[in-house]
Amino acid sequence: MLAERMKGFSGSKTSGMRNRARKLREAGIRVVNFAAGELDQDTSPTIKDAVRKALDSNKTQYTDTLGIGELRERLAQRISQKTGAAYAADEVGFTAGAKQALFNTNFVLFQPGDEVIIPSPYWVTLPEQVRLAGATPVALPTVHNHFQINVDELARLITPRTRGIILNTPHNPTGVVYSAETLKNIAGLALQHDLICIFDECYDELVYAPAVHHNIVKLVPEMKARTVLIGSLSKSYCMAGWRAGFFAAPKPVVKAIANLQSHIASNPCNLVQYAALAAFEPENDAFVAGNLAQLRAQRATALELVQKIPGLPCVVPNGAFYLFPDVSSLFSKSFQGERVENVDRLAELLLQHAHIAIVPGSAFGCDRHIRISYAIPTEEIITGLTRLEQFVQMLA
Ligand code: PMP
Repeated sequence: MLAERMKGFSGSKTSGMRNRARKLREAGIRVVNFAAGELDQDTSPTIKDAVRKALDSNKTQYTDTLGIGELRERLAQRISQKTGAAYAADEVGFTAGAKQALFNTNFVLFQPGDEVIIPSPYWVTLPEQVRLAGATPVALPTVHNHFQINVDELARLITPRTRGIILNTPHNPTGVVYSAETLKNIAGLALQHDLICIFDECYDELVYAPAVHHNIVKLVPEMKARTVLIGSLSKSYCMAGWRAGFFAAPKPVVKAIANLQSHIASNPCNLVQYAALAAFEPENDAFVAGNLAQLRAQRATALELVQKIPGLPCVVPNGAFYLFPDVSSLFSKSFQGERVENVDRLAELLLQHAHIAIVPGSAFGCDRHIRISYAIPTEEIITGLTRLEQFVQMLA
């Protein structure tokens, strides 16, 4: 019954794990959910108030496809500030989450025959969206380099078919942040080989000092003409369920995305656009800073507990809210007679026997690691990671 393009196409494994954890919880089992991709925090009251007001003033009709003028102006202003380059309102757009901005971008830029380089591990959706556009994702392995990009290795993957590279910093699932030097060198390659850069900075406000986030357009202004910047309100503003994301791109790309979007979903939710305007008010800066401080403390707790478990080496993350330890030392062992064959089996055993939900690295193109989100209450982190330690101790 299904079209050829859906053969072998499966849903996001991160959503799958979250759903299974929720079902077990509904069945009364106290599962610790390390699989979440969002903060365990409610949206700030100022944003909620702004939406109540928007509702009372009947902001309920269609809007322009890429958002109301006021919001696009605001986005352009913020992105100009961030990059030091002048972005106008018609070089930006608002979407139902960064996921939609990324899909639209891939769809309008890439076609069959094109190759798009993506550092691996990668956020689960990135290669799938390239495939949906008919193009071929090409993985650039980073595991051997503590998840950092080796620019010489990247250069060796470039062929006459290479059209683009998708960068994500701070990075999901590893938490690494790319250095200014790395990004400058990648920009050099993009300019030399006429590549497009999709720059996903959904976690840009969640970076732990002294680490800093670098924007590729800010570092190399010539990149503006070949870069699509992608941002999200899901993470820093605790608005994952609202679906609020945005992009900035060269005008022809923005126009093509508007045309595509106009036939798919029209505009992003009218009310959510008012939520986004409110989120960008300075009074929310303290909200974001408070969340970051809390995440920093949670990162310390989670790291300490994971580092205590023998055989689980873990790169210290400088951004986002995930640990990505290497669990391959467990693969030769068994739990109560059941072999831990691979990372998927490990995820299953952890859910069934330790009642903790993690995302297997296989979802991110990496079969030796697991992703642990520490954006959950500290007591949950302690309970869950203690269960992980006990599980590992019981392996024979
Ligand atoms: N990019 C990355 C790297 C992400 O981790 C996520 C969310 N998990 C997204 C994009 C999508 O974010 P949004 O909720 O805005 O669609």
